Amino acid sequence: MMLPTHAVVGLAVATPLLGVAPEFAPAALLGGLLGGIFPDLDLYSGHRKTLHYPTGYAVAALPAVGAAALFPVAATVGLAWFFVGAVAHCRMDRYGGGLELEPWEETSERAVYDHARGEWREPKRWIPYDGSPLDLLLLLTLAVPLLFVLADPFRSIAAGALLVGGGYVGLRRRLADLAPVVFGYVPDAYAGHVPDRYRR
Ligand SMILES: [Zn+2]
Repeated sequence: MMLPTHAVVGLAVATPLLGVAPEFAPAALLGGLLGGIFPDLDLYSGHRKTLHYPTGYAVAALPAVGAAALFPVAATVGLAWFFVGAVAHCRMDRYGGGLELEPWEETSERAVYDHARGEWREPKRWIPYDGSPLDLLLLLTLAVPLLFVLADPFRSIAAGALLVGGGYVGLRRRLADLAPVVFGYVPDAYAGHVPDRYRR
């Protein structure tokens, strides 16, 4: 799934706190949002492996949620939802497409790396690939209700994710064509840092 979808899922997992403990909702929303985004900071370095821990984040979330329940302050609540957002992200990657430049080709069997098992988990392709029409449908389904429930700045972030996600879906296949051209201009000295999937 694309990053805007992950970001919105991070917000969505924290939104119930608005009803349960509204004073901690901003911390949970910020934590969930950052946790939803954080794993994909490895986009250019060991993508879906370096910062993706489908088991590790789940193990970290348990004591973090416990600590937030026992000592509810903004920091513990924010940290707990960071791990919840990050585990949601890594689990969701499993249900998307494979790690390849044109994932609609379905040639990659790498969805997300599970460090606990020491192996790549294969993609289930319920959402065929990031930026697919179904990915957009998932984003819309989650983000539109959030526009009515959340207050700023989170409402604006959800709206921004909708705009960016919609644009990305519209350009997804053209961007895949463009990537090898753009990365082809990277000087030889830095070519080693260009992920394999961006080379032709
Ligand atoms: Zn990811």
